[in-house]
Amino acid sequence: MNRILEIDIDNIQVMVEPGIIQDALNDALKPYGFFFPPNPGSSAMCTIGGMIAYNASGMRCVKYGTTRNYVRDLEVVLADGTIIHTGSKMLKSAAGYDLTQLITGSEGTLGIVTKASLKIAPLPQTRKLVIASFENAEIAGQAVVKTFSKGVIPSACEILDRVSLQVLRRYDPKLVLPSEGDVLLFEVDGTESSAREAAEQIMKICSPLALSIKLAESENEMADIWAARKLVGAAVSRLDPTKTRIYVGEDVGVPIKKVPELLKKAQEISEKFNLPAMKYGHIGDGNLHLALFIDVLNKDEWDRLSKAADLIHRTAIELGGTVSSEHGVGAARAEYMEAQWGSALEVMRAIKKALDPKGILNPGKLGL
Ligand SMILES: Cc1cc2nc3c(=O)[nH]c(=O)nc-3n(C[C@H](O)[C@H](O)[C@H](O)COP(=O)(O)OP(=O)(O)OC[C@H]3O[C@@H](n4cnc5c(N)ncnc54)[C@H](O)[C@@H]3O)c2cc1C
Repeated sequence: MNRILEIDIDNIQVMVEPGIIQDALNDALKPYGFFFPPNPGSSAMCTIGGMIAYNASGMRCVKYGTTRNYVRDLEVVLADGTIIHTGSKMLKSAAGYDLTQLITGSEGTLGIVTKASLKIAPLPQTRKLVIASFENAEIAGQAVVKTFSKGVIPSACEILDRVSLQVLRRYDPKLVLPSEGDVLLFEVDGTESSAREAAEQIMKICSPLALSIKLAESENEMADIWAARKLVGAAVSRLDPTKTRIYVGEDVGVPIKKVPELLKKAQEISEKFNLPAMKYGHIGDGNLHLALFIDVLNKDEWDRLSKAADLIHRTAIELGGTVSSEHGVGAARAEYMEAQWGSALEVMRAIKKALDPKGILNPGKLGL
């Protein structure tokens, strides 16, 4: 089920089957001057069905939003075999519950998506990249808050801490990256003049806090940095081949204002449990990918890892955030749903029971 069923430029949308890979959809839209904006690091391999199920996002959701902002209508097969449509080609509707939004992000627990109508967006004329380094991640976090509070909204805002930069240098020594500090990447897009103006504003706002700040010099430099950024999570073994990155506590998020505090606490947790960590991610959305890595043959390191991950999850909830900003809950984070949602979790359980009374759809997921 990987076909594009319709490219409807007049209605600025497409209809696809759920198995289509995100990059393949964007390759097909490019000649029309449009794109499907949510762009996870896995865009070369992830499916639209998986993106809808997880409400996936990625680097450009600061400006463009997450998958749920683009879903107009879904064809869904329910647990009893009924086939429903949850929306239409309309931009808006005030008639009834919004089942499209209910299914999006439900991790396959309420039904199987078999078709999706998605809003698309015009490709921007140009993109520019500001690269700034800071004495520490907390100050980088303050620069993010300052930029947003001045009303400048980049298309992407990513953090790569000094450990991530070490990993990337080993992965590709030719990469042009700042030689010191923790780094923010701000991408802006639009027309040549609007993008240049936004980039200059960001440089002006961040300069007083930054160790260094510059505009990427060429399209190639930008492309190399984004390609490396996409791989950073998987490239950890370049730093220490005896260690493996374990995906726990890796996707927390907090409101923007709390970003500096989250970055500080993440550093403290890594030090407290004596676990090396890489801090990177979509910091413009308040989303931190804390990559903790261990020797998987060492039981003591596993114990410390699970304690550190538990603390990072609970810290995010205390700061008014979420245990998962985009990777989903699945089974791994199910135990935190109660702490994050309180009695709202009972409402989710009631919905699950109504739509899937026998519990046959992704049982055990989402803590339901
Ligand atoms: C290197 C890497 C980088 C990543 N970067 C990001 C990122 O930047 N942002 C982000 O959001 N995520 C990221 N992810 C996580 C993941 O790739 C995305 O969330 C992606 O959307 C999942 O799609 P998939 O096709 O791999 O889904 P799968 O893993 O195959 O499925 C995910 C879930 O969706 C359910 N599902 C799949 N299809 C359907 C359907 N048709 N109907 C109902 N349920 C369905 C499955 O049952 C499963 O529970 C990354 C992953 C990797 C490996």
